[in-house]
Amino acid sequence: MTSQLIRISMPARIKQFFLASALIALAPLCHAELATELYSMKAQAYINSEAAIDQLNTLKNTAVQQDLRAEQWYWLRLAEAQGIIVLLDDMQISLNAAANVIKQTENAEAQVQLLLLQGVLAQNNGALAESKTHFTNAIAQAMAADLKHLELRTRVELAYTYTLEDNFQDALETNHLAHMEARELGDIFITALAEDIYGAIYGYMDQYEESIAYYQKALAGYQQLGYQQYTSSAIFGIATSHRYWGKYQEALKYFHQHEQLLSHTTREGSKFYGYYGIATTLAAMNNCDAALPAINKAVNTEGPKDYKAELYKLQAKCYIKQQQLSEAETALNAAIDIFAQLPDLTDTNWQIETLLIAAKLAQANNNYPLAFALLSNYSEKKSRIDSATYSEKMIAYKATLENQQKDLKIKLLTENAKTQQLTANNQMRVNKLQKMLLIGLSLTVLIILAFVYILYKNLKRISELSIRDELTGLYNRRYIFNYLNNILSNEKEGKQFSIIIADIDNFKQINDNYGHPAGDSVIKAIAKLSLDTLRMTDVVGRIGGEEFLFILPRIPPKQCEEIVSRLLQAVREKAFTLPNGEVIHVTISMGICHNSADITDAKTIFHKADEALYVSKNNGKDQINSVENAALST
Ligand code: GH3
Ligand code: MG
Ligand code: MG
Repeated sequence: MTSQLIRISMPARIKQFFLASALIALAPLCHAELATELYSMKAQAYINSEAAIDQLNTLKNTAVQQDLRAEQWYWLRLAEAQGIIVLLDDMQISLNAAANVIKQTENAEAQVQLLLLQGVLAQNNGALAESKTHFTNAIAQAMAADLKHLELRTRVELAYTYTLEDNFQDALETNHLAHMEARELGDIFITALAEDIYGAIYGYMDQYEESIAYYQKALAGYQQLGYQQYTSSAIFGIATSHRYWGKYQEALKYFHQHEQLLSHTTREGSKFYGYYGIATTLAAMNNCDAALPAINKAVNTEGPKDYKAELYKLQAKCYIKQQQLSEAETALNAAIDIFAQLPDLTDTNWQIETLLIAAKLAQANNNYPLAFALLSNYSEKKSRIDSATYSEKMIAYKATLENQQKDLKIKLLTENAKTQQLTANNQMRVNKLQKMLLIGLSLTVLIILAFVYILYKNLKRISELSIRDELTGLYNRRYIFNYLNNILSNEKEGKQFSIIIADIDNFKQINDNYGHPAGDSVIKAIAKLSLDTLRMTDVVGRIGGEEFLFILPRIPPKQCEEIVSRLLQAVREKAFTLPNGEVIHVTISMGICHNSADITDAKTIFHKADEALYVSKNNGKDQINSVENAALST
């Protein structure tokens, strides 16, 4: 799961050879020089761990016999190189020796380096809690001594331990800070290392594209530095993420590339990861015929215990599939034994899978009760892990989601503002339209009203014209006879009214003496005098040339006769001024008929009034007569 292997390219190998030779040639170095030389050998292990170990071996005696400073760096550099190629037991020995020396030197940098390597060893051994303790101490001491690069390097390693614990939130947080600071410092190695860890974290979180992209970044960094040990590890990461992704052909391609990179190594153990990758890919492809030999090859190569446990599990599964049940049991027990030695892995997905395989084996052995019990146990533990893991994954996604939500919110607000602006514009347009519509409507109504008014006026005028006499403005003959007929048919029996016919006396003479227009002016003047003298409610009409008809409603005969007598008097006394300025006097004669029960139509009553008028004319004019009594007034 952790450390990676190294292959050395020819130019690097040559470089190492010359460096080693040079060191040997300078064999009796003074104390200070050797310590400095060992101190600065830091990168050798990253380029070729095996060559570095060889080189260190040549310096061992001198280093150990000389001062403690040289010795502390000797053990630390050796331990680091051993760690890279997973010589974990050797690494443990080197670190113990280093610890002894450093106790005496009390050198802060060496102390931090020791804690870092102790953490890496524990991490490789699956002792995750112990590894965290070492890393935490290393970070504290590095900060106290202002050893920034070592501090960041340790933080990246701590992030990886979190990853192995499925604690992706702490892993991402820790790694993120280290990555940022390393970039700021321009530390290419730690930057690449952090990108390598990102690759692992995203791989475990099933975000394969992201994972591969980070591994590619790390690869570029390592290649720039010429750290081939790490180059191969990045390629291994790319291969692994392809395998998790289910892109097995791509995975195999990268695993083979990784294997090729290591083909020149002299240590068989360096090749473990390549074998492991190919074996697990073939097993994932369900190709047990090809997978089993690959698994056996990897199992028989030196490698970390937890990886071995994975291989045994795969081996057991393949054997069950092939009905080789006793071989399957042996393989499964080997895996269970390893997990028993790694208590930190208890109740992880890695470990509980042994229960699932055991259940399958029990089933293959027809032991169904056992199979059922094992399966129940497995699913109970699995669901507990999943709920924890998913919640951690959720936290990890949360930051991304929150950012996306924030972006969306900003977008939404912008859209809202735009929409509001549009709505406001629309509203303005609608308002304007409504206003215009209202104005239009009002204008139309006004025009219609004006039109109706004019129409009404015209109609009124026309109807007035149809009932009025043109010369005098009095009611005309047709109207007054209609009116008369109406009151005769509508009025209740006994209702009192009277009619009077008036005729200008000797009118022909006026016409003859003064002319027709003068006659007209007299007619008009008498019409006006009639209107002025009679009551408001009396109906006054002109029924012929110089003849008038008055209808006096709701009036007793006596009162009627008084009123018309006043008119007779008024005409008699009036001085008529003719258009030529001459003044003349005129008289009229009238005939009255009071309504009575025996009268039923206009013709009859008119006739009776006319008879009375005839009497007035015959009796000397300028007088009033009624049908009932002649010579009412003279
Ligand atoms: P009497 O006293 O008997 O009524 O004598 P008179 O001259 O008034 O006779 P009559 O009523 O028969 O004559 C009416 C005359 O009025 C006849 C006509 O020439 C004249 N006349 C009729 N209509 C008009 C009119 O509209 N204008 C004018 N100036 N003269 C009219
Ligand atoms: Mg007449
Ligand atoms: Mg007359």
